[in-house]
Amino acid sequence: AKNSGRNQVQPYTEKMGAAVIERARIVEEVSLGLPRGELVPFYQPQIDLNTGEITGFEMLARWHHPSRGLLSPHAFWSAFEDHRLSLRLTAYLFDKVMQDLRRLSGEGLDAGCIAFNVSNIAFGHPKIVPAILSALRSFRYPVKKFEIEVTEDVLFGRNEQPAIEKLTSLRNGGVSVALDDFGTGNASLSHLRRFKVDKLKIDKSFVDDFNAGKGDRAIIEGIIGISKGFGMSVTAEGVEKLDQAIALKQMGCDTAQGYFFEKPMSYEGMIDLLRSGKKY
Ligand code: C2E
Ligand code: CA
Ligand code: CA
Ligand code: CA
Repeated sequence: AKNSGRNQVQPYTEKMGAAVIERARIVEEVSLGLPRGELVPFYQPQIDLNTGEITGFEMLARWHHPSRGLLSPHAFWSAFEDHRLSLRLTAYLFDKVMQDLRRLSGEGLDAGCIAFNVSNIAFGHPKIVPAILSALRSFRYPVKKFEIEVTEDVLFGRNEQPAIEKLTSLRNGGVSVALDDFGTGNASLSHLRRFKVDKLKIDKSFVDDFNAGKGDRAIIEGIIGISKGFGMSVTAEGVEKLDQAIALKQMGCDTAQGYFFEKPMSYEGMIDLLRSGKKY
């Protein structure tokens, strides 16, 4: 049995080795790409389902890869997961966003509340919260108009107590906190009793074709009910069709984002959109 075990291990380690090398290559490429300005913030508007107005934008990172074109985070996920790079990448994107917002207000425009994703690895860094708060202060950015998105898994396992303390100090600093992909992770509802967040985000997987299966509709109604019960607001992502937007509005969902409204866009696209004063 031992011999055959050894034989089975061989192809597995080869595959693992390839994945490790691929991840290391991406981390290296992103590290080099940062000073070259290859990483850029894109922005997707969030729409008030009752008024049709833009309430703010979620920043979604993009990588202008020198040979492979514009890439989504799935293509460079390991950069967000790498212990050393994730914090540098987060700080870099944060800086870019602050520069964009400063230019925007120079144009007399207001983007509303900006939501910023922080990976679990970056959130695990002991200095992440003071870094965010002091950067907001140095940019003289109104904290009220800044939201951090974390997934419920930041609370999972041994990290729960430090994570709760971080979320609390962010909120005490005036930054709002959204739980991303709510319902897809490992946290349980009892977590919500022990710490407060400002918003729940309904994951796209629940919004996809929820009319077809009754189950997903019940999940969405449940999440909206929970958010109301706890005094939180609720945003749905991945809204691609009019009937989804209508149903979400009827169920009491506050805001939504998705291709039905707009795809994530460059800074220039965001400027044009805000100038147009468009309502949905
Ligand atoms: P997420 O936070 O769940 O973001 C929503 C994703 O759904 C985004 O993918 C967005 O472009 C996409 N999306 C929005 N509306 C629609 C729609 O109607 N249809 C479809 N098919 N997709 C839609 P994206 O931009 O590729 O980002 C993927 C994930 O990468 C994000 O998922 C987020 O977890 C992560 N991410 C993006 N930017 C950052 C960042 O700056 N930092 C960190 N830590 N993570 C980021
Ligand atoms: Ca998000
Ligand atoms: Ca996510
Ligand atoms: Ca999601």
